[in-house]
Amino acid sequence: MKSHVKAVVIGGGVVGCSVLYHLAKAGWTDIMLIERSELTSGSSWHAAGGFHTLNGDPNVAKLQAYTVQLYKEIEEISGQSCSLHLTGGVMMADTPERMDFLRLAHAKGRYLGMDTELITPSEAKAMFPLMDETNFVGAMWDPVEGHLDPSGTTIAYSKAAKKLGAEIVLRNRVVDLTQQPDGTWNVVTEQGTVHAEHVVNCGGLWAREIGRMVGVELPVLAMEHMYLLTEPMPEVEEFNKSTGREMIGVLDFKGEIYTRQERNGILLGTYEKACKPWSPVNTPWDFGHELLPPDLDRIAPSLEIGFKHFPGIEKAGIKQIINGPFTFALDGNPLVGPVQGLTNFWCACAVMAGFSQGGGVGLALSNWMVHGDPGFDVWGMDVARFGEWAGLRYTNAKVRENYSRRFSIRFPNEELPAARPAQTTPLYDTMLANNAVMGDSWGLETPLWFAPKGKEPKDIVSFHRSNDFGPIGEEVRATREKVGVTEIANFAKYEVSGPGAEDFLNRLMTNRMPKIGRIVLTPMINEFGKLIGDFTIAKAGEDRFMIWGSSAAQKYHMRWFEKHLPKDGPRGSAVRIHRFDQTLVGLSIAGPKSRDLLQKLVDVDISTEAFRFMDFREMAVGGAPCMVNRITYTGDLGYEIWMAPAYQRLVYRQIKEAGEEFGLVDFGMRALLSMRLEKNFPTWFRELRPIYGPFEGSMDRFIKLEKNDFIGREAAAKEQAEGPKLRRVSFIVDAADADVMGDEPIWAKVSKDYGTVEKPHGYGAPRFDDQGKEVRGSQAAEGASAVRGIVDGDWRVVGWVTSGGYAHYVQKSMAQGYVPAALAEDESAGLFEIEILGHRRPARINVEAPFDPSGEKMRT
Ligand SMILES: Cc1cc2nc3c(=O)[nH]c(=O)nc-3n(C[C@H](O)[C@H](O)[C@H](O)COP(=O)(O)OP(=O)(O)OC[C@H]3O[C@@H](n4cnc5c(N)ncnc54)[C@H](O)[C@@H]3O)c2cc1C
Repeated sequence: MKSHVKAVVIGGGVVGCSVLYHLAKAGWTDIMLIERSELTSGSSWHAAGGFHTLNGDPNVAKLQAYTVQLYKEIEEISGQSCSLHLTGGVMMADTPERMDFLRLAHAKGRYLGMDTELITPSEAKAMFPLMDETNFVGAMWDPVEGHLDPSGTTIAYSKAAKKLGAEIVLRNRVVDLTQQPDGTWNVVTEQGTVHAEHVVNCGGLWAREIGRMVGVELPVLAMEHMYLLTEPMPEVEEFNKSTGREMIGVLDFKGEIYTRQERNGILLGTYEKACKPWSPVNTPWDFGHELLPPDLDRIAPSLEIGFKHFPGIEKAGIKQIINGPFTFALDGNPLVGPVQGLTNFWCACAVMAGFSQGGGVGLALSNWMVHGDPGFDVWGMDVARFGEWAGLRYTNAKVRENYSRRFSIRFPNEELPAARPAQTTPLYDTMLANNAVMGDSWGLETPLWFAPKGKEPKDIVSFHRSNDFGPIGEEVRATREKVGVTEIANFAKYEVSGPGAEDFLNRLMTNRMPKIGRIVLTPMINEFGKLIGDFTIAKAGEDRFMIWGSSAAQKYHMRWFEKHLPKDGPRGSAVRIHRFDQTLVGLSIAGPKSRDLLQKLVDVDISTEAFRFMDFREMAVGGAPCMVNRITYTGDLGYEIWMAPAYQRLVYRQIKEAGEEFGLVDFGMRALLSMRLEKNFPTWFRELRPIYGPFEGSMDRFIKLEKNDFIGREAAAKEQAEGPKLRRVSFIVDAADADVMGDEPIWAKVSKDYGTVEKPHGYGAPRFDDQGKEVRGSQAAEGASAVRGIVDGDWRVVGWVTSGGYAHYVQKSMAQGYVPAALAEDESAGLFEIEILGHRRPARINVEAPFDPSGEKMRT
């Protein structure tokens, strides 16, 4: 065993071996994988070996597609077979709602390069004759599904990595990790200490314990999972013989089961409602190549439906029941990337579908470690997406909820109840008393909308307009015409201070920093010139800046800030960063009467001249020390008022009292999002993401190339000089009773080719084509693939929706999304359609914001 390596990968499951292979492939060959026992000793050896490309997050779906394409490569390099069976598979819908869900998934596939198809139950039965097709209303076919040998695949990765120079040490447990002052690690093992620059936690079932070695409680939990194998079935053999094909994989949402052919019998697994965590607090180190006792009673309800839907299987004898543990994060997606607050400590764990996701996880993580960036939009699996609130008990409740809902529909207006309320502001009880319907915003209870008095404050979940439609309209109209108040504690808030603060922010942000008492809006981009943040920054004092951003990105942004701190940070004097989280809360008042209202509560002049649009001031509001921004996301005259939590009730109560004479209403997050739509304002994580350049995102006026050098400046200058490939645009849609939700395809009637329709996914780092081959440069930018259903006569899919909804004040259904820039700028190309729940609705690009296009109202 070497005593010094560049990186140690802890854990020899499918994920650790994939990370090792990808690191070696990227050129880091001085690396070592350390495994406690034999390879596959965690959950990898007893997996059912199924793989598929579909995922609720389109970016994770793309990485799953990469994983499937990778298997041929590692077989070739290693000489080890993965026993790949690319059978294809179907998802069966038993209700119209489920069919809507499949239509949405199919529509997304149009610009993601996925070749899915909606088919009838009879067509599905022809490929899996054991089903009773009368239980279903429709299905979606995905050709990129199948199964493989889990152990063979893990070994193939490991052999391929070894061939490239990586070392694998077996039967050697990592018992401790200690960090050196220079940021490198001492990896203490049963066989001695290895010094490494980087450590990767691929501990699978023990990832939590490895996290604890460095003081981190990772939000990951193992769940028991069962599948059964039948005796050989004559029907299966008969089908194979008569068609020359294997039976396909089938996913039955209603039964919460997946099933497929295994040898000449059937494999059937369940995600049962009565799910069970395994070792909820500590994973025993002596758990070996073991299975757990089967518990048929637990999966009986699923089996009952399963046997009704697939009567052919009921007759077969059960040969074996496998019950084994494997890990999940709160939302079922992996935890990947560098852990904020630590140096060179990386995670690739909570991978619940190692054989669909392991390759993509390995590629993204190795890019990140070697090139400093994952090269893809990996937000959906970034370890930074959960906050401190996701502790052991919270994780336990959420993972159980996620597991039991694995095959349930999540409606766009559906809030999930587990582990709530977690964090609350001092106004929580008041908001409930006001009949608020609350939502979870990064672990914080936040008012979404207010139900009328006497009505139960509860969403009726639906893909269509629902019971919140009327009340949100009321909130919007009252705010736009009089004045409204809303909680804004769910923004991220930071203070950056010290003599180096301004230089630091100038280096990170694309816009100039404001003068004292003024505010700017500014994007943040990475070296590749892609959007990684969007902030409101106020200069509060000589060396002091207040920053507001996206709540969910707090850890993601802190990680970036810390990475770029001057060398005497983070505890040095030049630049200090403080994240407030819920130690600073806020209220926003907006609408034409908001100034009159605020003036009643303050003892300073806040007239238009004295307190201008985009001014920042510290002042007492109702006697409470506050920071006030003259800015609002609604696009009206309005203010954001920030205070310590101890003052929030006082300020709110006084706003309510003072507002009575002006007709003040409470409004929630949904009204706020509706109002920003009619101002064409973008949102972080929907319109603005690390796959878009700032000019593509139509953020042109915030990019000051002529100011000092800043991170990504060169790439942004190039984007501007060459012209953006895409453009964010806003649409007005002739919708019926359903508005866009995000991710819908945009069609256009075009007489010429305006360029790519495939959604950009990677940048900077390697990308892959349909055959899994790496593509670079212009070839990568084209990313073209023969996708089924992107052309229909003169109509083509030209882009995708990022978000939208009903803009209540202007009474229009609106959408924002990306289309090729040339098309966005071609005024003659006017005919668009947006596909909502399978129906293409006419849409028009809308250049000027429909509400107050000149911005006069917010400036008055
Ligand atoms: C019944 C069942 C069916 C499944 N079916 C499928 C399926 O069809 N498709 C699919 O994609 N996935 C399936 N899975 C999930 C799949 O098994 C996991 O996604 C995958 O195994 C995760 O791999 P991993 O490498 O992250 O973790 P693990 O396989 O748990 O590997 C972690 C490794 O780290 C080692 N380790 C831990 N701590 C240390 C330490 N301190 N020092 C040294 N070594 C350490 C362990 O010994 C272990 O070998 C199934 C799982 C189960 C249980």
